[in-house]
Amino acid sequence: MKKQSLLRFCITSTAATAVLTLAACNAVTPAKTPSAAPARDQAARVADMDSKIEALLAKLTLDEKISLVHANGKFSVAAVERLGIHETWLSDGPHGVREEISRDKWDPAGWTNDQATYLPPLTMVAASWDTEIAAMHGNVLGSEARHRNKDFILGPGANLARLPLYGRNFEYFGEDPLLSGKLAAAEIRAIQQNDVAATVKHYALNTQELNRIGVDNNPDERTLREIYLPAFEMSVKEGGVLSVMGGYNEYKGTNVNQSAELVNQILKGEWGFDGVLMTDWNVDINTYDAAMNGLDLEMGTDVADFDQYFFAKPLKAQIEAGKIPESVLDEKVRRMLRVHFLIGKFDKYRLHGERNTQAHQQAAKAIAEAGIVLLKNDAVNGKKLLPLDKTAVKNVLLLGPNVDKLHGAGGGSSTVKALYEVSPMAGLKNALGDDIKLTYLRTRQPAENPPIDGIFVETRHWTGTPAWNTNFFESAKRVNQTHFDTVPDSAYKVTSGKTKYVSLLADIKPLASGEHQFKIQGKGKITLFVNGKKIASITSPKGIYRVPYTFNKGERYAVRIDYDGKDQFLMGWDTPGGIFVSEEAAVAAAMAADTVIFVGGLSHGDDREAIDRPDMRLPGNQDSMLTKLLAKRPDSIVVMMAGSAVEMPWLPKANALVWSSYGGMEGGNALANILFGDINPSGKMPYTLPKRLEDTPAIALNDYNENNITYPEGVFMGYRWFDKHNIEPLFPFGYGLSYTDFSYGETTQSAKVLSGDSTLKISVEITNTGAVAGSEVVQLYVHDVAASVDRPIRELKGFAKVHLAPGEKQRAEFELSPRDFSFWDAERDLWLLEPGQFEIHIGRSSRAIEKVIPVTWQ
Ligand code: BGC
Repeated sequence: MKKQSLLRFCITSTAATAVLTLAACNAVTPAKTPSAAPARDQAARVADMDSKIEALLAKLTLDEKISLVHANGKFSVAAVERLGIHETWLSDGPHGVREEISRDKWDPAGWTNDQATYLPPLTMVAASWDTEIAAMHGNVLGSEARHRNKDFILGPGANLARLPLYGRNFEYFGEDPLLSGKLAAAEIRAIQQNDVAATVKHYALNTQELNRIGVDNNPDERTLREIYLPAFEMSVKEGGVLSVMGGYNEYKGTNVNQSAELVNQILKGEWGFDGVLMTDWNVDINTYDAAMNGLDLEMGTDVADFDQYFFAKPLKAQIEAGKIPESVLDEKVRRMLRVHFLIGKFDKYRLHGERNTQAHQQAAKAIAEAGIVLLKNDAVNGKKLLPLDKTAVKNVLLLGPNVDKLHGAGGGSSTVKALYEVSPMAGLKNALGDDIKLTYLRTRQPAENPPIDGIFVETRHWTGTPAWNTNFFESAKRVNQTHFDTVPDSAYKVTSGKTKYVSLLADIKPLASGEHQFKIQGKGKITLFVNGKKIASITSPKGIYRVPYTFNKGERYAVRIDYDGKDQFLMGWDTPGGIFVSEEAAVAAAMAADTVIFVGGLSHGDDREAIDRPDMRLPGNQDSMLTKLLAKRPDSIVVMMAGSAVEMPWLPKANALVWSSYGGMEGGNALANILFGDINPSGKMPYTLPKRLEDTPAIALNDYNENNITYPEGVFMGYRWFDKHNIEPLFPFGYGLSYTDFSYGETTQSAKVLSGDSTLKISVEITNTGAVAGSEVVQLYVHDVAASVDRPIRELKGFAKVHLAPGEKQRAEFELSPRDFSFWDAERDLWLLEPGQFEIHIGRSSRAIEKVIPVTWQ
């Protein structure tokens, strides 16, 4: 396809300077953006840039230079106004510009006009397998960042989904280095076209949240080069990224930000990155190592005063003592100023961006529509279940925890204050109108006394998930607080066996007015307060102790539970007005509905920064509800919304399954368009859906721990692992269905025998053989027939999305370079192309290969 060769143009031009890189890559950013950015004169902006930077450097004092390499606020870096260097502003994040944070503390700044377009997270972009969709995403992000006067946007993320439990998978592009790298590069180019620096993160090997600030990573070199680095390499070489964020984690015993190998040798040396490497927020670096090994900017360190940053007074002291040459600091300042020039901070014609436009909202919808994956669509009573016929639907029952859940405000630093967010229920209502009966029934765990559900809890953990603040005290008097934590539920278990004096506090918002019944269980003294008033005190109740309390719907109540004991307690409640029904009642209601749609999966209570999931199971009662439902209504439509894989034990009984990442602000409308066939699904899985957690390498090889991750599976991660060990996944990497069919026809190849630097051009003819328009993601994998090292059975080396009317044919075109056939030779430190036989596998997914094309490298 054309896209492929344009990208190559970008690669070639990276050999030159950053200026050329940016200009060349901008020139090829797809024009299909919601609001085309006005042209600005990049050449004029950067004319004599290097000499202007040297002139500025010569005028800057040591203190001023130091002020440019560390934060002066939570998300800002100092100005040197006397020289026209304005303050630098940064903001998260990968799928929308984050709400404004106070200058010196983490509290929201309290702005009332900082709402933004909430885009689908990058996992959704990944499922589109479309660089134009990535560019559309980046363009909205860049434009909105400028409108909020930001200079750096902290995204995209380019780490890989090795572990399904990893809390941040939803912020990345899935499990494959090439898919991630191509999409990241397209996203970066589009962000930067708006005069904002993109920041690809978290360099590198950030694959879990468990002990995220200390965990060490020790993959072998081939694994590092072939799997975990290429998406960053493409971000630099093809995306021309202006900024990179180092992770929290360590590599070979030192924090990644100060790893000589990762930074000066690879990132800045081999790849020629000449932008700014910044730390993640609050990384414990060592001033000398970080300064000497290539870190440019320190952000987010948790100290009382910005002068105490490692790159503030301590850096100045080491320069004055002659331990660190001032030229090392100069290089960091030079890089910062270069970014200032490239994003137009010295240019009066710098772009201003736009925010919350209809075009941005339409883009959010288009991205979600392109990234929803149809996983199963079997016939029941002779007819495929999807798409639903809108005219035949009269009485719909909705079940599942994601029916009306909103996701924008969760997930951690990627949280977005969405201007609005259309839930699946709202989207279905919009599509069906007011005359259709739409009923939503909530069910919950069959347990007699589950903790108070998160839907009632207003208090938040900083990641955005509902939480109870937990204060620990020295004694029952609760005078001296020892520490603070949060727990997800109205339950607490003492682990040490020593009496704990704990207070759990949350703000609760009832969904119905009337008498609620608190249900207290536990061993020890439990005292309950509502709005500061004691309403019950009981010691080791026998069974469940009930306490009635009358609440008003929608009001906020401060609930506090004091626990003095060495065992555990649990407090649930019964709510009035049938907010929850039993699973049996839900099945009975399903029998009376003409259409049943279950919208479940995960939420940002599970997929979130700082915490990994405990297991791969669906939370709450979803498995038991779906098992009961599908036994009676096998025609139910099941929708799973999640940023990571989940186990689906009920799958054999499901006949229609739609997989969606979080959908952004227009997610509900996009989902309705897919379910009713206004849009034909075209997404494909960007990561493998395993049957069981134990089928994934980190767990199978016992390599998930707090201390040292060694990646014993080597390069066999994701589908490479499942293929090598012949493990049947639930759904393979690259899988996804359509409402139409595609046939794979004649192939062409530019050569059968290759040598030297030659490239190989391959094409395949795709025909839409069905009755409706649709898009097919054609995937190209390389298979090395015989090699001196153990290589994956196949590796993705190209993909192209073709859009076809019924009956239409089009060629998907690919161009492969020698590197696409090579492996990393750790002995010689180079990409090695071993002569011999290869096969090009072209297919619909990593496990549905339609064409095998032999080629020989001499
Ligand atoms: C996250 C980054 C984020 C930064 C600033 C950190 O906790 O790891 O991804 O950009 O905070 O909010």
